[in-house]
Amino acid sequence: MLKTNKYGKKIRATYNNIIKLQKAKYECPKCKTQKLRRISYSIWKCTKCNFTMAGGAYSPYTETGEFVIKMIEGE
Ligand SMILES: [Zn+2]
Repeated sequence: MLKTNKYGKKIRATYNNIIKLQKAKYECPKCKTQKLRRISYSIWKCTKCNFTMAGGAYSPYTETGEFVIKMIEGE
């Protein structure tokens, strides 16, 4: 979290939102526990079952990704 008066309000708010998304815990699609963590740029790893997946840069599931999944499943 940025706790400073530098950079301007909008940039701080955007940055803080991204940090919040990164630090949040997400559900692992394999073992269904809340152990999915971001280990690198758009790489997400479950700390319980070591399942690794590619996702969004700052959150494992993105609107675009869900749209693509729906498109694939719809066929
Ligand atoms: Zn898992």
